[in-house]
Amino acid sequence: MGTLMAGWAIYLSRDLPHGMLHLAAGRFIPLALVGAVLGAAASFLIALLLSRLLRAGRRWWLGGMALLVLCYATALGLAAVPLRPVLFPLHMFSPKPLSIGLFLVLAGILGGLLLARFLDTRAGQADPAGGARIRSRRPAVAAWSGAALVVLTASSVLALSWIPAGRSPKSPPVILVSLDTLRADRMGILGNTRGLTPMLDSLARDGAAFDHAESAAPWTLPSHASLFSSRLPYDHGTRWEHRPLHPAIATLAEHFREAGYRTASFNGGGYVSAALGLGQGFEIYEEHDEVREGGPKPILAAALEWIRSVGDVPFFIFIHTYEVHSPYSHDEHADAGDAGRLSCPFGFKEVTAVQNGTLTLTTSERRYVSGLYDSDVAYTDQVVGGLLETLRRDGILDRAILVVTSDHGEDLWDHSSLRSPGHGHSLYEELLHVPLFFRAPGLVRAGGRIGTPVSLLDVAPTLLALAGLPPDRDHRGRSLERALRDGKEPDAVPIQAESIEYGPGRFSLRQGDLKVIVAPAPDQVNAGIGFPVEPVEVFDLRADPREEHDLSGRMPPQATEMLRSLLERVGRVFEPLREKHLDDERIPERLREQLRSLGYVH
Ligand SMILES: [Zn+2]
Repeated sequence: MGTLMAGWAIYLSRDLPHGMLHLAAGRFIPLALVGAVLGAAASFLIALLLSRLLRAGRRWWLGGMALLVLCYATALGLAAVPLRPVLFPLHMFSPKPLSIGLFLVLAGILGGLLLARFLDTRAGQADPAGGARIRSRRPAVAAWSGAALVVLTASSVLALSWIPAGRSPKSPPVILVSLDTLRADRMGILGNTRGLTPMLDSLARDGAAFDHAESAAPWTLPSHASLFSSRLPYDHGTRWEHRPLHPAIATLAEHFREAGYRTASFNGGGYVSAALGLGQGFEIYEEHDEVREGGPKPILAAALEWIRSVGDVPFFIFIHTYEVHSPYSHDEHADAGDAGRLSCPFGFKEVTAVQNGTLTLTTSERRYVSGLYDSDVAYTDQVVGGLLETLRRDGILDRAILVVTSDHGEDLWDHSSLRSPGHGHSLYEELLHVPLFFRAPGLVRAGGRIGTPVSLLDVAPTLLALAGLPPDRDHRGRSLERALRDGKEPDAVPIQAESIEYGPGRFSLRQGDLKVIVAPAPDQVNAGIGFPVEPVEVFDLRADPREEHDLSGRMPPQATEMLRSLLERVGRVFEPLREKHLDDERIPERLREQLRSLGYVH
């Protein structure tokens, strides 16, 4: 059973097509070992039980068999329904018919073994004298096979360390930090003058910072899945339906683990939970409840302890905190005079009241909430900056590759009064523009500033390149290693974002300063929430960084080309809704004409 499960895990994860031999062996051995030990123990117990019952008489034997069948059925029932995710953790990632098939095969094998044991003992009971000699061979064969399997698996464990993993003893450790919900414009290094992020700014100045880094999605789950996989949300498939990241997608952690790195994550759980597939490739994936624990310090303490325990072995660590995310729990940068009916903390209850329309904030109250958000940013800078400073003093940071970023920003009445404060509902820059800097003495030029827009899809290929690991051909982003090393601007390429958590689905494309946003189904309701949006918007981010002046009425020629390319993607990944809605009466005639001329509406 363990061998079957291990083979299934390797098949689902496509370890062999990805060339991840070390990882495949790592997946196979524990499951096979557990299966062999449990199978041997169960077989031994059943044999013991049956022989005892046999000696106790026919009635006891029949009762014992009935009990065994009952235990078997109960175990199957437990595995099949309520504890399915626990007992069959791969079930939720795999296609339903295959999972049901696997389940039935396992049930069949176990049931068959039980039946064989039943018939075996029955034959012995019917003919105790003549059958004894024949029967005596079967347990011996089974026992020797079991023992051989245990020895084989145990020796594979020892052999694992000898499988070449492409690791160089000089491989730098990699520290990836995601500060959830942190807007780019709160960073001092990106122009904020309130002094909220002195420690992170200082670290960023030791490395290279990107002026225009864009998230691939405006909310936590798809954005992190894109960060880990270098794929757009409609390609990795983890969107508002909360489907887990498929195990066949090789994540950044899997690449590092394949290369012999130790891997761990200490994070705020929720939408970065291992239950949603983001734990793939991590040996340790420690999820914290920051609201209950009173902030991110336990996450940071656990991360520090783990890093110190690793020693000189190369490691990849992903540190994530929701401290900047609501509830906003600090007020040092908020003016108490603005508070009005509010107080600190400002949390879920207040956010829900604003979104329901039962609480309408005044201008000064909005200013207060924004001040609370800034205070959380400043606190995050202190504690995360403190951890990184400790690592610097320990001599770890200066030999490591450090990346600090965020998965998305926060709408603070930039565009939506109903969804502020919040995110996940649009593709405007207050949600997509995120901080991003790399620091790696010797690998990244200190003081670098890169103005060309880049995507968080570029982080994974860049980290592989900086660590000297082979690229992943399935990555959609590009390596920025050369730009970081030489300080030269990378080529300008189109930057895409998609996947909305609330309201109509949208797709955006940015080329240089021009940005096009398309809502292929403007009246779509996601997660029970719908609100009116424009089917197409065009902005010139240089002239209009706040995206207040939609240029779609007099489309620049380049925007028409961008719209065409965006609609091609929409057509590929959003086809059913496109068919349903692009012919909708509600699409303005002006846009309808334009789409017709592009061949998308007939
Ligand atoms: Zn987030």
